[in-house]
Amino acid sequence: MRLLTTACLTALLTISACKAKTASDTPAKAQSESLQTAGVTEGTILKASPMEWVTHGGNYAEQRHSKLNDITVETVKELGLAFSYDLGTSRGIEATPIVHDGIMYVTSTWNIVTALDAKTGAELWVWEPEIDKKQAANACCDVVNRGVAIWGDKVFTATIDGRLVALDRKTGAVVWDVLTIDKSKPYTMTGAPRVVKGKVIIGNGGAELGVRGYVGAFDVDTGEQIWRFYTVPGNPADGFESDTMKMAAETWTGEFWAAGGGGTVWDSMAYDAELDLLYVGVGNGSPWNQAIRSPEGGDNLFLSSIVAVRPDTGEYVWHYQTTPGETWDYTATQHMILADLEIEGATRKVIMQAPKNGFFYVIDRETGEFISGENFVPVNWATHIDKETGRPVETAEARYQGKDPFLQLPGPLGAHNWHPMSYSPDTGLVYIPAQEAPWVYQEMENYKQEGGAAWNTGTNFIYGMLPTDKATFRALRSMLKGRLLAWDPVAQKPAWTFEHGGPWNGGILSTAGNLVFQGTADAHFAAYNAKTGERLWRNFTQTGIVAAPISYAIDGEQYIAVASGWGGSYALGFGGVLPTGSAAKVGRVLVYKVGGTATLPDIQMAEYTAPTPPKSTATEAVIKAGAVHYANRCGACHGDQAYSMGLVPNLRASAAISDADLWNDILLGGALAENGMPNFANNLTQEQSESIREYVIFEANSDRTKDFYESVSRPK
Ligand code: CA
Repeated sequence: MRLLTTACLTALLTISACKAKTASDTPAKAQSESLQTAGVTEGTILKASPMEWVTHGGNYAEQRHSKLNDITVETVKELGLAFSYDLGTSRGIEATPIVHDGIMYVTSTWNIVTALDAKTGAELWVWEPEIDKKQAANACCDVVNRGVAIWGDKVFTATIDGRLVALDRKTGAVVWDVLTIDKSKPYTMTGAPRVVKGKVIIGNGGAELGVRGYVGAFDVDTGEQIWRFYTVPGNPADGFESDTMKMAAETWTGEFWAAGGGGTVWDSMAYDAELDLLYVGVGNGSPWNQAIRSPEGGDNLFLSSIVAVRPDTGEYVWHYQTTPGETWDYTATQHMILADLEIEGATRKVIMQAPKNGFFYVIDRETGEFISGENFVPVNWATHIDKETGRPVETAEARYQGKDPFLQLPGPLGAHNWHPMSYSPDTGLVYIPAQEAPWVYQEMENYKQEGGAAWNTGTNFIYGMLPTDKATFRALRSMLKGRLLAWDPVAQKPAWTFEHGGPWNGGILSTAGNLVFQGTADAHFAAYNAKTGERLWRNFTQTGIVAAPISYAIDGEQYIAVASGWGGSYALGFGGVLPTGSAAKVGRVLVYKVGGTATLPDIQMAEYTAPTPPKSTATEAVIKAGAVHYANRCGACHGDQAYSMGLVPNLRASAAISDADLWNDILLGGALAENGMPNFANNLTQEQSESIREYVIFEANSDRTKDFYESVSRPK
């Protein structure tokens, strides 16, 4: 096992990283436009209007732009809370609310679906699925959910344990409930379904733990599966499902199917009614490390690709691969937006995506042809996208197999993660919740595929996790950045940026009032001038916001709504470093209007108690071994440096670190499995389990990070 020394980390830090209403619109006119752009027509179901928010992305083009313009750059200063609704949760809320017929549908942690009166916030019904909480062990990135879909008289939700459920829109009663996964595999579902032509479309996640990705279509009335499109090939000995899979298999080598291959469709989709194409965003490889997954290389289709399929049959039409031979968790599952752009004198039907790898892509959505791509944050894994081939030109250091560890931008959290963007046809700009979150990639030696709740990435998790001195730790931390980025997709350059205090900020809404709305990790919700980036208004929300806002109107009043609730993978793994206040354990729906006068209830902040750990007596070798096991098994939930913000227990303050028997009961005996804590009996020896305990004791006593966390992470 090669460990990263302080000197090595310091050297990495010196790598010169990186290259760097319209006023005239009448409601009637806007209504007819919305009927088209939502792709929802009379007779198929919903009588949509711009007064509502009927699909996940606001319309099938997923633009997340509201045509409502009653709230303007002038009146936004008078925005106040109309009402709030407490979702009763202490973990991440990623849902985009849906509003139709005066009712708002929103999901929260553990797939609870709530229907509210969208004008008053009065609760109409709540549906709480019976979820096996042991499923949390399969969830790479918190027990989150991104929202529901509606169609006709039903609401559709996808559960973390792999079910697709139809509820009665008026009562919340279950209409049908179907299992969409093989329960023997670590699949999860966190995404919002889409409904296209009477079919509910949904994918799943799990590529960190070892699954084969696919997306499926289900009948709205019965839940019966109509088609399934696999995104990566299975074992050729079992026969290919289609010629497409045979073609894809030619881009893989070795026993690529052994760990599933990955390619999960865990978030983004878009539908073009004119071309009758459904676009799906495909995730990373399983395991991440291509040298293990496909030892002789190859592009590994359709990892990290946008794939166009026919919504009636799931038949493959075209693909564009953002990251051939993916080996860094560079998913292409990020939000996709459809638009018609004037490019070099021609109107092009395009699809736009800013995936994890840091490049902003404009792709022809009729053919999949690459039109343009430029980096929207500093990147050092590739110098540029070759304009002829549409392929990235990688730097020599980026593929870490058999090499020294490499400090890379972006890391697996991405230059942009799932948090939705928006596109304003008024300004022609795409608004991106962008971030800089580097990572040190290092090949894991002696990798073996594991079952159960084991991350199977084939890379060591070493960001700031290994013992280093205080200065190195802080230098690494200072590289974490986040911003609201207004991007010109034609010129492929920024129009303006607004710097936030750090990464992992909320999704975006733009409006015809020349406004952009976004919540932030530091527990605020704010409005910006869409043309200039000037911040015009903001409101303290008591907890961080990661979800995206929406807008709707009832009885002549425009509302802006957003779900608050800090969580997700960054919050679990890195959430100790926040500027303020996000430790409030509360998730809510917040609804604003001009002149709103409601207030948030006071919250009780937990008293901070400094941990009193036992003395560290283990050898350096044991602590270093424990650090690696911790990083690969524990850090994604319990936080970098064994410090978490309260979404899950802070191990430094845990009684279990003073009691080896209790510790091993939890890690190796499954004592807290019902709470979502995995049983690692199949993945750790007792010696390894105890080395992790020694590492946590070391961290609890160490001053390299302790004062840092205590100074920045306490609620103010
Ligand atoms: Ca991933």
